[in-house]
Amino acid sequence: MTLLAAEGLNKRFGGVVAAKDVSFALAAGEMLAIIGPNGAGKSTTFNMVGGQLAPSSGRVLLAGRDITGLPPREVCRLGVGRTFQVAQTFLSMSVAGNVQMALIAHHGRTRDVVADAASLYRAEALALLAQVGMAEAADRPIGELAYGDVKRVELAIALAAAPKLLLMDEPTAGMAPRERAALMQLTAGIARGKGIGVLFTEHDMDAVFAHADRILVLVRGEVIAEGSPESVRANPEVQRVYLGQ
Ligand code: ADP
Ligand code: MG
Repeated sequence: MTLLAAEGLNKRFGGVVAAKDVSFALAAGEMLAIIGPNGAGKSTTFNMVGGQLAPSSGRVLLAGRDITGLPPREVCRLGVGRTFQVAQTFLSMSVAGNVQMALIAHHGRTRDVVADAASLYRAEALALLAQVGMAEAADRPIGELAYGDVKRVELAIALAAAPKLLLMDEPTAGMAPRERAALMQLTAGIARGKGIGVLFTEHDMDAVFAHADRILVLVRGEVIAEGSPESVRANPEVQRVYLGQ
């Protein structure tokens, strides 16, 4: 069953063709990596799927439903979660509090009408934190955590919205290699276990080849290759224009 289908997406910025006829499909529980040099159109493609950018032409289908050009909030409500390159968390609030806020938002509750806000969705938040290996940090201010741990909490925050699809644009940017591999491993395990589709970009090719089920290679806005990690790695054009071999 196709969870996400991008059909012939195009986006121009003035004279720059940021995406040209970009098409791909992603199944539930699948990890699809988009790779390509800087300026290849990776973020543009993410933004067209997430609703931050409207494509010039083409369609985005989520479980068969046309979501092209819907605003980000609506795309999110329909099951597309997102972790961003820059952390968007409440630094002085506890780790659990941040996840509880996300759960409250997801369930459409308003914090100030709840008598005992501090305990609202506390158990659910702790369960999500356990999934990302951060249960023990539940009551610490998120601003005190190491960067790699913040990234784990961000994953829990994204999962709080019970997404069908997760968009991760450079989730491991700024992390040490070992932490990076651990975060990708964690993401892949959770995605496969819950049947969440993951669309991600990543500079670290080892992490991409280790965790992607399929890889889409973009160069100057165009898909030049798509397939299994093995087939992409062996593709002469990919080696020539991207892997620099
Ligand atoms: P990537 O994420 O692969 O590095 P981007 O999708 O960010 O690439 O950018 C693709 C191309 O589109 C680049 O040439 C970039 O300069 C251009 N671009 C991206 N966003 C904008 C924008 N908002 N306005 C003008 N040009 C943009
Ligand atoms: Mg980018």
